[in-house]
Amino acid sequence: MRPALPTESTAGSPIGLLGGTFDPIHFGHLRLAQEACNALALAGVRLIPAGRPPHRGVPGSTAEDRLAMARLAAQGNPVFEVDDGEVRSAQKSYTILTLERLRAALGSRQPLVLILGADAFEGLPSWHRWQDLFSLAHIAVANRPGYAPHGRRWPGTLSPELDQACYNRLITDPMRLRDQAGGLVIPFDMTPLAISASLIRDLVRTGASPRYLLPDSVLDYIGLHHLYENHE
Ligand code: ATP
Repeated sequence: MRPALPTESTAGSPIGLLGGTFDPIHFGHLRLAQEACNALALAGVRLIPAGRPPHRGVPGSTAEDRLAMARLAAQGNPVFEVDDGEVRSAQKSYTILTLERLRAALGSRQPLVLILGADAFEGLPSWHRWQDLFSLAHIAVANRPGYAPHGRRWPGTLSPELDQACYNRLITDPMRLRDQAGGLVIPFDMTPLAISASLIRDLVRTGASPRYLLPDSVLDYIGLHHLYENHE
């Protein structure tokens, strides 16, 4: 299986891409981005809030609120950048469209790394044009508490179609992400954090504090705008 992208020469360090509903963004997302950066020697990570996530019900907060919270969370970390492309788009937030946009903007030689938690990775075959993702970016998969372990136990723990798609793409050496612009799959370990946005929404809804699960700036925003108080 040959990647569609050029393999001869790449340009620059890989750039990480972390998409999500971020409803709200929390330390699970931020550690995932930071640890991907550390483990995979990325130039930085773009946090990409989904405008209209196709795989779930309407989020508990608006796209503008989720974008604002992502910006607050990223503040002060020079390796994080927030990309508002999906929020600004009228289309559904399909990752394939975002990768096409970024590929067009950054050129065919820039290595891109789509960062996914184990739950998102397992669900990949339900994504729009999922097989095309591999031709536009590498995929990095982190462990997540409560979900089957990734990587080293492959093959056998993934659905047959995902297993098949990863066949011949799986690598363990992050330096190989520089050899080509996309097309490889790399598992990496992050500090396990059993934090989810749903947990945070539940805590707020029931009047309990989610403090220390997410940045104080995001928590203050939630309080100021009365988010999640009566949404579920
Ligand atoms: P929800 O609880 O509303 O489903 P979530 O916490 O899973 O939300 P998302 O915005 O759906 O957050 O996740 C975006 C990405 O971040 C996904 O790839 C997901 O796997 C990953 N992710 C979220 N939380 C964690 C975590 N605690 N550890 C590892 N990966 C995570």
